[in-house]
This record gives sequence, C-alpha cells and structure tokens, in this order.
Amino acid sequence: MLIAGNWKMNGDLKAVRTFADQVAAGIDRAGAVGLLICPPGLLAQPMLGAVAKAGLEGRMGVGVQDCHASASGAHTGDTAAEMAADAGCSHIIVGHSERRADHGEDDATVKAKAEAVLRARLVAIVCIGETEAERRGGTTNAVLSGQIRGSLPDGATSANCIIAYEPVWAIGTGMTPSLDDIRDAHAHIREIAGERVDAASLQILYGGSVKPGNAGEIMGLEGVDGGLVGGASLKAEDFLGIAEAAA
Ligand code: PEP
Repeated sequence: MLIAGNWKMNGDLKAVRTFADQVAAGIDRAGAVGLLICPPGLLAQPMLGAVAKAGLEGRMGVGVQDCHASASGAHTGDTAAEMAADAGCSHIIVGHSERRADHGEDDATVKAKAEAVLRARLVAIVCIGETEAERRGGTTNAVLSGQIRGSLPDGATSANCIIAYEPVWAIGTGMTPSLDDIRDAHAHIREIAGERVDAASLQILYGGSVKPGNAGEIMGLEGVDGGLVGGASLKAEDFLGIAEAAA
C-alpha cells in the first residue's frame, strides 16, 4: 500500500519544513503504509533535506511531478529524470491529466517521459483516467485501455512502473466514482496492463478527491494498492489521516 502526495504547484520552503516535521511526529499512524511526497521540482531538494532532518529517510520518499524525455539539452524550463535521480528522488509522476490538458501531452509523450524515468532508474507513476464525457458515453474501459497501451514505457515492469487511475472529473472536485466503479476500473486496468507486466504484483493507485473520510473504503477495495492524493496531501494531518485509514 502506497500513499503518494502530489502538491501540484503549491507550497514553499516553510511548508516543506512544517510538513516533514508534522509527518514525523505522527508517523506511527501510517503503520506499514509506504509514503511518497511529490512537491514542485524546485522544492524537491529542500523536501529531501527536511525528510532527512525529521528522521524520515527511508520512510517517506520524495518524487517530482514531471520530467522531460531527454537526459539533457536545449529544453528551457524543463527538468531531466536524471536530475531528479541525482537529487535523491525515487519516483516521477508522468501523464497527470493536468499536464495532458495544460501542455497537450498525448500518450506518446507520456510514454517517452516514462521511458526517461526508467532510464534514470527511478519508478514511474503513470497517470490515466477518463473524462466525464467519456464516462457518460460509456467508453471508460476503452479510454483506459488506449492510455495503458499508449503510455506504458518499453521496459515496464511491476517494479519500475505504478499506474495511477485518476478519473479526470474526480480530480479536485470532491466527486468520486462509486466503489463498484473504482473496483471495476482497477480490474480492467490490471487485465490490460497484464499484457505487458506481471498483473498480480502491479501497484495500481486510485486518485481523485481522496480524503481521510473516504480513504478507508476506497483503499480497502480489492485491486486498489494505494492512492495518489492532491489537495489533501498539502496538510500533514490529512495526509497522515489517509495513510492511517489505508493501514
Ligand atoms: C491529483 O492531482 O492527482 C489528485 C488526485 O488531486 P485531488 O486529490 O485534489 O483530487
């Protein structure tokens, strides 16, 4: 079970220090649940320092939210997966729906980025999910199949790739699919991803409006191996509350 936080474009140095100290103070609540926090890239190194200072090294990993497909070069404003690895990060999120929407990233782009993550010997968290119109139109499974086949990197294994199922319409809205729909989507994802990786050991996270109040029932579902948490990961109390409910 893994609870991964995505701070998106939020936070500052003070928030990093406070978060790490508060997580350390309540770490027993997380039991054996794995913890990962992905702040904005510029805060990844301060977060690594704060994690170490708080005594959380080896207990809470630090990741970033995106990378470029290339290892270096003339790509102003971008960051290479190798740079995240060099800083001490363990995971990189790729293909988040906000990047797909804001930056026009398609499956081929996401796949190339995920391959960069593997090249840097980090773990890729590959995000997929249907829009509201796609769910209403009954094409959720077809959309998920296409995204899995198009976005999973060559060389993917259940050790170097995690899939995050994040219905676009559930992100930051307070809405979540029914428990049956989450279970069905995870089963479908496992079946399709099983064409490429060992399905039984693949970690599939659910993301979209996870909070301490709904984490227990969602994380308890068959086939749900953890959560990717946006808004609720900004407060250590909520992040720990979700981990506690998942434990
Ligand atoms: C996310 O951004 O990955 C996410 C799931 O956001 P939220 O938890 O705020 O819905």
